Amino acid sequence: MLRSNICVDCGRRIRPRYTRCYNCEMRRRRSGWHDPEHLSGQAKRDAELGRSKFYVYLLDTDYGHYVGHTANVRARVKAHTDNKVKSTAGGDPKLLWKSSPFSTREDAAGFEAALKSLRDQSSERFQEITGHEPMPLKPVPASGSGCGLTGILIIAAIVATLLTILGIF
Ligand SMILES: [Zn+2]
Repeated sequence: MLRSNICVDCGRRIRPRYTRCYNCEMRRRRSGWHDPEHLSGQAKRDAELGRSKFYVYLLDTDYGHYVGHTANVRARVKAHTDNKVKSTAGGDPKLLWKSSPFSTREDAAGFEAALKSLRDQSSERFQEITGHEPMPLKPVPASGSGCGLTGILIIAAIVATLLTILGIF
């Protein structure tokens, strides 16, 4: 599928294969809407590997509920618990639920996006489907709580600058 490299929401130029610019994508996600991920080249690889069953799965993590899709639930969950997946690393991920199989990755990715949207809209439908109350996913804290430290350093620098300007030093 060929897409123009213009953000569909604001019209800014964006990189090929993307639908929205970063700002518009984040705004859309904050309001609880997810699009299926781009699957360029995956269908061919799936066919080569003889894959014909794809699952959507739900993990409980310290950051909230993670929703993903995979052709191999066991291997994918192991990758999560081994902290090899960035968005759940260090969050003690545990499998809560998996879907019935889909016969194409595209269908699984479509359902994954819908389930993420229901989660982030805190929809009752999420619980009807998975049996779990939706918990929106927070971003993984920056490594080594660098965010807090950076903030303190910035404030310290501003205070020092002000004191210097005021001629206290
Ligand atoms: Zn945009």
